[in-house]
Amino acid sequence: MRRGELFNLVAIFHSYKCDEGWSPFGDTSELTERFMDACRQVKELRDKMETWKMWGVCDREPGKNWTNRRATLLGDAAHPMLQYLAQGAGQAIEDAVDLGEALRFTKGDVQQAFQKCQQARYLRTGRVQLTARFYGDIYHASGVQRGLRNQMFQGGHESAGLAGLKWMYDGIEPSKLFQ
Ligand SMILES: Cc1cc2nc3c(=O)[nH]c(=O)nc-3n(C[C@H](O)[C@H](O)[C@H](O)COP(=O)(O)OP(=O)(O)OC[C@H]3O[C@@H](n4cnc5c(N)ncnc54)[C@H](O)[C@@H]3O)c2cc1C
Repeated sequence: MRRGELFNLVAIFHSYKCDEGWSPFGDTSELTERFMDACRQVKELRDKMETWKMWGVCDREPGKNWTNRRATLLGDAAHPMLQYLAQGAGQAIEDAVDLGEALRFTKGDVQQAFQKCQQARYLRTGRVQLTARFYGDIYHASGVQRGLRNQMFQGGHESAGLAGLKWMYDGIEPSKLFQ
């Protein structure tokens, strides 16, 4: 990042500590402890981190109404999701594209466009929210769940995993939304 000056490393784990905001620094000893049993390469990377910031991540139950007359929400405000599918910004951009299409279709009738856009979006964004939760459970599995996960993925290849997310990566076709 920043023309090669910075290397951004993200580590995800469950913690009981959480400060609101974008800038709280994390506790290095907690990071060390959480990745105590990690493989050598991960530990080497972890030990290169001098400081790290900690973000609490959270989502909400999927909703279907984030519009009130001439006010609507887009992105995280409408459908906050966990990061396991790296889709927060992706879905926010899709919202914007669909809203543009809805405004074109309604010839600038804002209230109608907001309703149409919301109707077109809520099942897809809800599916991403719920699927991200599911992937979180898989990634952080422990005990029998972990054993079962490892057995199921053993011998699998990357494309098999991605096949289950085809609906998401296939994207949207805004021009066919409102006909
Ligand atoms: C560490 C991390 C990694 C991520 N990686 C990915 C990834 O790989 N792929 C992906 O798709 N997504 C990723 N995301 C998620 C993505 O960043 C968010 O989903 C996305 O930024 C949401 O966009 P948004 O426009 O809805 O909200 P935001 O980007 O949060 O924008 C909201 C804006 O509103 C401003 N604001 C807040 N309150 C007020 C106020 N009262 N008045 C005026 N302005 C205000 C904020 O300052 C902010 O600029 C990641 C997030 C994090 C934290």
